[in-house]
Amino acid sequence: MGRSRGLGNKAEEPRFVVDTMLGHVARWLRFLGFDAEYIPKEASDSEVVERALSEGRILVTRDHDLVRRRALKGRYVLVRSEDALKAVGEVLDALGLKPEARPFTRCPECNVPIEEVDRDCVSPLVPIKVRVTQKAFSRCPRCGRVFWRGKHWEQMRERIAGVLGVGREEVDSGEVDLSALGRLGGEGGMAHKWRYDEVPEEEVEGAVGVKVRWLLDESRGARNFAMRLFEVEPGGCTPHHSHPYEHEVFVLEGRGIVKVGEEEFEVGPWDVVFVPPNTPHCFKCKGVGAFKFICVVPLKKGGR
Ligand SMILES: [Zn+2]
Ligand SMILES: [Zn+2]
Repeated sequence: MGRSRGLGNKAEEPRFVVDTMLGHVARWLRFLGFDAEYIPKEASDSEVVERALSEGRILVTRDHDLVRRRALKGRYVLVRSEDALKAVGEVLDALGLKPEARPFTRCPECNVPIEEVDRDCVSPLVPIKVRVTQKAFSRCPRCGRVFWRGKHWEQMRERIAGVLGVGREEVDSGEVDLSALGRLGGEGGMAHKWRYDEVPEEEVEGAVGVKVRWLLDESRGARNFAMRLFEVEPGGCTPHHSHPYEHEVFVLEGRGIVKVGEEEFEVGPWDVVFVPPNTPHCFKCKGVGAFKFICVVPLKKGGR
């Protein structure tokens, strides 16, 4: 459970600044309608604190040392969960903010409120099937992304109901104000493109010297698979673990050792590795440069 103190007037709209390495938390806060700025990797602790103070934002962090800073005056939430959605739940619980959630009212990329737009305005931008089946559309005034109430929206709604601790039926019956729903979509996902470094880096639970970027997952419109980019520093290693789904791995850079069950492979660029379900495995960097690879997992059935 996160903790917090002295957060002032409850009536004011809470705004967050989310510490580096918690990019997924920032995105989910935005999906829930909260203003959540994300701190880039290069920022120093002092810059993080300064940003929070100068903009009147509540700091969301996992860093125990950072929250000891007096200047913060207790305006922080210290999250413990490694799971982004659970961490968001901790933030909302700590501040009593679950009733304030307004899902699907903010662009998850730009952190600005999205605006309702006329169907005619967006017609050229959305697939024909969506154009004929959907009535309500919204658009981000900054990046121009168009949102609607598609299959992806249904999937996100399910997860959001989970965070808010309500059943989907309760959500539907209006116990929680989700009237602003209907702004986010992707019927099978609209095609879009971005660069890997636009996706924030995150830490990997139980790993040493490993960073991951969730290049593609449900928060970007995918419904079946998540594509992650791992970077393992020299001497680093992912946790030795196993789970009921497979890994599909493609090596981009560097050299590594992959242990899978009783097998051990040395791999390098262009190598492909299949890690079967329920087989203990880990990835180690072997060499002087970072070991970088793509790893694809299913979104459902505990793919995370
Ligand atoms: Zn945007
Ligand atoms: Zn694994």
